[in-house]
Amino acid sequence: MMDAELKMQFLFALRSKGIMDKRVLEAMESIDRGAFLRGGVFSARAYEDMPLPIACGQTISQPSVVGLMTQALDVRPRDKVLEVGTGSGYQAAILSQLARRVYTVERHRRLVTEARAVFDALGLVNITTLIADGSFGLPEQAPFDRILVTAAAEDAPGPLLAQLRVGGIMVVPVGQSDAVQSLIKVTRSEAGFDYDELAPVRFVPLLEGLGQD
Ligand code: SAH
Repeated sequence: MMDAELKMQFLFALRSKGIMDKRVLEAMESIDRGAFLRGGVFSARAYEDMPLPIACGQTISQPSVVGLMTQALDVRPRDKVLEVGTGSGYQAAILSQLARRVYTVERHRRLVTEARAVFDALGLVNITTLIADGSFGLPEQAPFDRILVTAAAEDAPGPLLAQLRVGGIMVVPVGQSDAVQSLIKVTRSEAGFDYDELAPVRFVPLLEGLGQD
């Protein structure tokens, strides 16, 4: 568990990066990021505001970026949320505190198995995990109130836009994977899609198909 001093520093770092939403801060206070590093060599750095390596050559996102994305997503208690890119499962766990149900899709089986074990251990019963190429979304559960993509696409993927409910919000990092990307907020109205650019970010790329492990 987070000790009180570390927790204060962690929350201070989030606030200083512009995370002001009370529900987001409460969710990030109650979910221990250390649990998603599974006692690996980087566990000691779990409460620092930096991305860290996880299995399969992937990364657990920086806490302030998780906060920023979650805040921009403006999740409401009745929402059905899709996350593409489960990774460690940390972001999905934060979303599970704010939404009715979270579907999280990941292309690496090993990451899904490991994240599932942490969700079970923490009693996060409203998260459904799936092994799939998330760029096609999850047509059988669409439409979604909120969609969060945690890997960088060259553009907001068409199938995901199509699975966003009218009135819904999608947050997605857009741009080349080897460059700085833009975090984009897409809002769907009756008339179409509105795009807002939020911040420069760096994510691993959204890849096609399933991973090797
Ligand atoms: N949200 C994660 C961090 C994600 S890192 C966390 O909180 O830890 C991005 C993840 O997206 C990686 O695990 C990568 O394997 C996954 N990914 C990349 N392309 C994907 C795709 N097409 N479908 C599903 N997952 C994908």
